[in-house]
Order: sequence, then structure tokens, then C-alpha cells
Amino acid sequence: MRYEILNHSALEKRARRTDDPRYIYYVAILESSTFADYMNNIRGKVPVYPSTYNDGREAISPHREFRYVLRSRKWIAEVQPSPGAPTSEAELRSKFEWDIAEARSVSSAKRRSHLATAPKKPERVTVTTTVFRRNAYVVAEVLERAAGRCERCKQLAPFAKRADGEPYLEVHHKILLADDGDDTVENAIALCPNCHRWMHFGIVEDEHH
Ligand SMILES: [Zn+2]
Ligand SMILES: [Zn+2]
Repeated sequence: MRYEILNHSALEKRARRTDDPRYIYYVAILESSTFADYMNNIRGKVPVYPSTYNDGREAISPHREFRYVLRSRKWIAEVQPSPGAPTSEAELRSKFEWDIAEARSVSSAKRRSHLATAPKKPERVTVTTTVFRRNAYVVAEVLERAAGRCERCKQLAPFAKRADGEPYLEVHHKILLADDGDDTVENAIALCPNCHRWMHFGIVEDEHH
């Protein structure tokens, strides 16, 4: 990787040949146009560990971090896990996303040698979880507006719920609550499970700029 790229960020730092992971991340972002490039550019260079955004309020996956940084060209800081503090679920999930990306970037032979010595039963950990107490009226109102159809693909809900026979749709926040979105009818949309997963994990073209 070349390190001499100038930094156009608000921090007005220059990327130089250095082992400081902040520069490596920044240069990797500037030089990458796809997530695969990004993973390739940072592979082996930095401890693969969750980063944060929103002023460190949330740990995020590498994919989301990449999209976020690509869009905003903002710098993001690495999480400094405070010793002794309980692991948050978000942190654990984020770390796992990084681990998967790392595992996918090595050869199959290397993966198999890891697997040969891996314990068959996973370790158990206790984590803390922070959830939002959502407004049920928002959900009810949005479901009524949707009238049994996904508001993205316009198809009928894929099935009726066992509990009450109502069409199965999921109410999603367009600006995520974790991104400081509002829990309002305007910010919510009723989606079929496929569209909902797409909203969270699909490629969003116009998000790049
Ligand atoms: Zn849909
Ligand atoms: Zn959602």
C-alpha cells in the first residue's frame, strides 16, 4: 500500500509511511472503492477490531464502517475497550463481523487448519444489551398505512402471523434509531422480511456520496 496520499479530511493530517493504524485505515479508505479492496488494503496491517462512529456511541461492522467512511470521508476512531467493563452485544457482533471478513480473506487451506484445532462447542459469554423502548403507536399506524403490503416492493406480506392471522410485516426506521433517527410514523416503513434485510445489508448505491 502507498502511504503518501494526502489527507483531505477535516483533521488535516497527512498520511505518511507509518504503522499508526489510523493512517493505514484512512489511506485504505481513500484507495478503496469496494469493500473487498478495503479489506485487502487493511489486511494484516492493523488489529482487526471494531471501530466506532457517532462519537463512539456504537460499535459497527466493517461493511457499515466502510460505507459510512466512504460516504462522509470522516475519520473514525478505534474502540478502546475499557478493561473490566462488560462487553456490549453490539461490540461482540461487530467483532464477529470483522472476524468473518478476516476468515474470508485467507485461503481455504488456512481456514481448514484453523478448523482442525477449533473447539466444537462455542464459548459462552455474558454481554450487556441496550435496546430502544419503541412506540407501539408508530408500529400500529405504519402497519395500518401499509395495509398488508410491503412499502418497498409493494408485494403482499409473505404470510399471516400464527398468533393473530395478521399479515407479517416488519416496521423499520429509515434513519436508524442507532443513528439518532426519530421513532415517528414519518421515519418508519413497513417491510417484508426480504426488503427489511436488504435495507440493513443490501448495497445502497446512492449512499456513497
Ligand atoms: Zn418487500
Ligand atoms: Zn430495520
